[in-house]
Amino acid sequence: MTTTDLDATTIAGLERTASELDAADPIAALRDEFVGAETSLVYFDGNSLGRPPRATVDRLARFVTEEWGGRLIRGWDESWMQLPFAIGDEIGRVAIGAGAGQTVIGDSTTVLLYKLLRAAFDAQQAADPARVEIVVDTDNFPTDRYLVDGIARERGGRVRWIEADRAAGVTADQLRAAVGPQTAVVLLSHVAYRSGHLADAPALTGIAHDAGALILWDLCHSAGSVPVEADAWGFDLAVGCTYKYLNGGPGAPAFAYVAQRHQAALAQPIQGWMGAADVFAMGPEYRPAEGMRRFLSGTPPIVGMLAMQDTLAMIERVGIEAIRAKSVALTDFTVTVSDTLLAPLGVAVASPRDAAERGGHVTLSHPAMRAVTAALWEQDVIPDYRDPEGLRIGLSPLSTSFAETLAGLRAVAAAVRAAS
Ligand SMILES: *Cc1c(COP(=O)(O)O)cnc(C)c1O
Repeated sequence: MTTTDLDATTIAGLERTASELDAADPIAALRDEFVGAETSLVYFDGNSLGRPPRATVDRLARFVTEEWGGRLIRGWDESWMQLPFAIGDEIGRVAIGAGAGQTVIGDSTTVLLYKLLRAAFDAQQAADPARVEIVVDTDNFPTDRYLVDGIARERGGRVRWIEADRAAGVTADQLRAAVGPQTAVVLLSHVAYRSGHLADAPALTGIAHDAGALILWDLCHSAGSVPVEADAWGFDLAVGCTYKYLNGGPGAPAFAYVAQRHQAALAQPIQGWMGAADVFAMGPEYRPAEGMRRFLSGTPPIVGMLAMQDTLAMIERVGIEAIRAKSVALTDFTVTVSDTLLAPLGVAVASPRDAAERGGHVTLSHPAMRAVTAALWEQDVIPDYRDPEGLRIGLSPLSTSFAETLAGLRAVAAAVRAAS
């Protein structure tokens, strides 16, 4: 057999596997509910900006003509004032295991993280001035690290850094060693943005609590991709993006979760009129509202909350467990294809190989990946690049097929070969 024959046999085998996996996929039909799924473009970045659902085209048009255009200012009383709470509850119910009244749609992830982290830090300090540290890992998303640094300086606190292994994430032993009577808050990502490592959230939450600390979970790469049980796992606080696996569109506002037991004790620092006890009393001074309203600041970004409702409806229809099962199958298949086609070219899998420790994306590393990403974008194959040397293959379970995944990975192989 020549190398070419071997390649042809191997490719034929992978193609058969991809079509069998697509045929057996119980949620395969949902792909057709997304704009652009009919084209040959390969989309590997649904973990950064999800595709738009087709239903959103109509929803946006109807909003402009009927709700905004027809109801005008009356829209606030009729539905918009309640929308951040209604959609928040929906996210809580279908995606993050949160009972009603604990989740709200607010500002960007960055701003919500700031508000909750500062509220938690201040509450812990007030209860016990010895709690001066915020614990965060060196591999966390930049905005998370920058905020922690800023809040520590602003409030006279300290940062305790955990040096996380890029592929293994923060371990229980590392967290146990970092927390103690000096810890105010711990901030961790549930799924690591770089490697896709999936943290053992219930175990890590327990460790933070044993030390008397509060824990804030960043769910940006989790919501809509992996099951989360915020209430059952004892979360204190969480924040997450809606424009990633929830397909809310560019700049769609994030959600915040605050466990019922903490709401009354937390005061967030951007005290605006929309978070006040009686919004239209317009009184002389700020008194925070009861419940989740106190975590809002200004006028809620209603237009940004439209698209995510269509994806939430899809998640509700099929259930997060079916979505996770497909996600695991997609990432497993990606690892298999990478081992077969890419490993011989010097490409390594930089994500956990055990699906139980992996979220919805797989990172492939090779020195040429920056140039490879640029070449792939030219050909309508769209992953993204993260330093160092990482090509992120984001696999959005609702809109990605196995055939699409194989086509994209074959293009990666060709581009790596060309760049080497
Ligand atoms: C995407 C992402 C963010 C983004 O924050 P924005 O304020 O929406 O820009 C924050 N944290 C993590 C872990 C992310 O993956």
